[in-house]
Amino acid sequence: MVNLLNLDQQGLIDFFSSFGEKPFRATQIMQWVHQQGLLEFDAMTNLSKGLRQHLKEIACFSLPEVKRHQISQDGTQKWLLQLDSENSIETVFIPEDDRGTLCVSSQVGCALNCHFCATGYQGFNRNLTVAEIIAQVWLARHRLCPNQTISNIVMMGMGEPLTNFDNVVTAMKLMRDDFAYGISWRRLTLSTVGIVPAIKRLREECPVSIAVSLHAPTDELRDQLLPINKKYPLHQLMSACRAYTQGKPSRHITFEYVMLKDINDSPAEAYALVKLLKNIPAKINLIPFNPFPSCPYQRATSESINRFRDILTQAKLVTVTRKTRGDEIDAACGQLAGKVLDRRRKQ
Ligand code: SAH
Repeated sequence: MVNLLNLDQQGLIDFFSSFGEKPFRATQIMQWVHQQGLLEFDAMTNLSKGLRQHLKEIACFSLPEVKRHQISQDGTQKWLLQLDSENSIETVFIPEDDRGTLCVSSQVGCALNCHFCATGYQGFNRNLTVAEIIAQVWLARHRLCPNQTISNIVMMGMGEPLTNFDNVVTAMKLMRDDFAYGISWRRLTLSTVGIVPAIKRLREECPVSIAVSLHAPTDELRDQLLPINKKYPLHQLMSACRAYTQGKPSRHITFEYVMLKDINDSPAEAYALVKLLKNIPAKINLIPFNPFPSCPYQRATSESINRFRDILTQAKLVTVTRKTRGDEIDAACGQLAGKVLDRRRKQ
C-alpha cells in the first residue's frame, strides 16, 4: 500500500503515471485531501468509479493518532501525536492577533545535543516521514483547529529539519503548493542549528525563509552550547547565510539567540554579535530561555534582555524579543519532548 500522504505533486504525478493515469489526477487528489480534508476515496466524486476502486486496492492515507490535546491560557494549543508503539511527537499552534503559526516537528528527538534544549536531552530515534510531517498540518487544519487560520508554518518543533532534508523539503513543497496549503515561501520558515552544506542545498531546492540558531557570537562560546559548531564553525555558517540571501531579496534570515543568564547575555556578547552580523540583512530574535527539569541554565533577567536588545537596535539591527507562549503546557521553544525511545543513550 502506498501512503499517498508521503507524496508531493510530482510524486503523485509519477504515482498516477505508473498505471497510465494523467497528471491532473495528482492535483485532483491534492485538492480533496489537503484542501477539503477528505481521506475517503469514495467521496472523491471527480474520480471514476473504476479509478476509486483501484486506488482502494493499492493506496491509503495513514496518519498519526492524536493522543493528547492541551490548551494554554494564552490560547496556545499542543498535540501529542502517536506515530507507532514507540514514538510520539508534538505539534504546537500559536494564535496571534494578525496570524496563526503552526510549529511542526521533523524528527523523533534530536541528535544534536544542544545543551539548553529539552528535545536534545532525550536523544534521537528517527526521522519523520513526509506523511508524518504533513499530517501535522493536515490534522491542525482539518480536525484540530479548523476555525483558526494557519497563516505561517515554522519547522521549529522537535528535531533538526536539515538532517532530514529530503522529507522536510518534500513536505514544505506541499505546504507551499496552491493545490495543497498555498502558504507562500516567505511564511514558511525552517529553523536550523546551522548544517552548512544543507543550507547551501536548500538555497537551490526550496526557497523558504530560514531561522538560524546562533545563540553565541564567538566560536569559543558556541562550541560550548551547540556541539555542532565544532563541525561547522561561525565563519562557515556566516558565509552560508550570506549566500542564502544573495540575489534573492525575498529570502529572509532570522538569527535566534536564546538568552541564558550569565552565559551569553552581557553587553560584550551583544557588541560581538553586532560585529558578527555586519553586512548580513537579517532580523534577530531574542528568545528568553525556557527552563526544563535537569537543565543547569537559567533565564536571563528582563533587564539584561532589554539591555542586550538596545545595543543591537542602536546598531540598526532589527531585534524582536520572542514572547514566551504556552509555557505552562510545556509548549514553549525547547520544551517539546514527546516520547522517544532513546537508542543512542542506551548504547
Ligand atoms: N533544530 C532546530 C529547531 C529547534 S527549536 C534549530 O536548532 O533551530 C527552535 C528554537 O528554540 C531554536 O532556536 C532552539 O535553539 C531554541 N531553543 C531550544 N531550547 C530552548 C529553550 N530551552 N528555551 C528557549 N529556546 C530554546
